[in-house]
Amino acid sequence: MKVFKFGGASVKNATAIRNVASIIKSSNKNELLVVVSAMGSTTNALEIIVHKAHSGKNFDTELEALKEYHFQITQELLPDSTTIKTKLTEQFAQLEKLSKTKTEYDFFYDQMIGYGEIISSLIVEQYLSENNFASQWIDARNYIQTDSTYREGQVQWNETEKKIKTLESVLQKKILVTQGFIGANEKKETVSLGREGSDFTAAIFGYSLKAKSVTIWKDVPGVMSADPKRIPTAVVFDELPYKETAEMTYYGASVIHPKTVKPLANKGIPLFVKSFIDPSLPGTKIYECHVDRLPPLIIHKENQCLVSCKVTDYTFINEEQLGKIFHAISESNMRINVMQNSAITFSFCVDFRENKVMKLIELLSKHFEVYYNLGLTLITIKNYDQKTFNEYHTMNGVILEQSSRAALQVLVRPN
Ligand code: ASP
Ligand code: MG
Repeated sequence: MKVFKFGGASVKNATAIRNVASIIKSSNKNELLVVVSAMGSTTNALEIIVHKAHSGKNFDTELEALKEYHFQITQELLPDSTTIKTKLTEQFAQLEKLSKTKTEYDFFYDQMIGYGEIISSLIVEQYLSENNFASQWIDARNYIQTDSTYREGQVQWNETEKKIKTLESVLQKKILVTQGFIGANEKKETVSLGREGSDFTAAIFGYSLKAKSVTIWKDVPGVMSADPKRIPTAVVFDELPYKETAEMTYYGASVIHPKTVKPLANKGIPLFVKSFIDPSLPGTKIYECHVDRLPPLIIHKENQCLVSCKVTDYTFINEEQLGKIFHAISESNMRINVMQNSAITFSFCVDFRENKVMKLIELLSKHFEVYYNLGLTLITIKNYDQKTFNEYHTMNGVILEQSSRAALQVLVRPN
């Protein structure tokens, strides 16, 4: 069997969904499980709704816009289907009900945020089944079991694998359509896997079903050496080793969610990244392979925050103090993207998530004088050559720089 994952851009309107159906059709010789994301930028819109609902603000306009968007697509694709309209009405009613509950923020967020995926998977499945595909909708929350780390659910692999395996017999007869991004804990509460987590969902299903392959359909021709919008000379890779790909995602390459590679590598399942715009292109195959010399890979990670902790009593930064800093970062469930120390200061760079960063700074301020800079971009050049090294090493606005034999990293203030 195979797993296909379609991201938000590939299901953003009726034409896009028809295209998805045609891609599925051309592979119908295989047993297939399809994972879909929320349509277009629905998750961003839901984040605004969640935020407003939680702080007691009115979100009628946003919710109406979201309803209109989905009903409009449904009207175009399935004008005569009352079934789908009833289903959508039900889901939106559930969402509204949840918005009135009073719970802790991350839990509240997770109960609401997955509706984009639930709704898009319902529409896609209904469209397939009304167009003579033998398909069935399944709720990913019945199969992916996580712990209760809301917004960053940790998969409980044994339970998950067992549950997903029960789908093997259905898959022989039907194309299964499910949602990316969400699972559930033991108590059946929804837990999301982190933003952009639908790729990871595809890998979880692929791993558990020992898929022949997993394909992520994107609006780019494959994995590229840089973002072509920034660097027009970027090239597409025909093939990449798992390890290289995993490292790229670690540094912030957004082409695949960072957690996607590991489960697939563990079972030797190839991962394809292909273009839904031109499915005839070969795309990139990621598997256990050897590639002689890769060109420099340039990865931009935006919205970075540099935090500097300075000792205040004329001592130097020591291991005990570093211990306190690392402990606080780990307590806050954050990840360091780059770090550096000097005699009296330890600086580190993290993704800027306002709530988390502010809490962290508060914790650290008990022991240090804390400074921070926002709106930075971390540029990583992996496998650099002399030419790229010189170019980035001397670029404007660098506030921190670090290099090893494998990578050069510069943290810059964009101008
Ligand atoms: N819809 C979710 C997001 O935008 C999950 C995903 O697309 O992978 O983060
Ligand atoms: Mg997405």
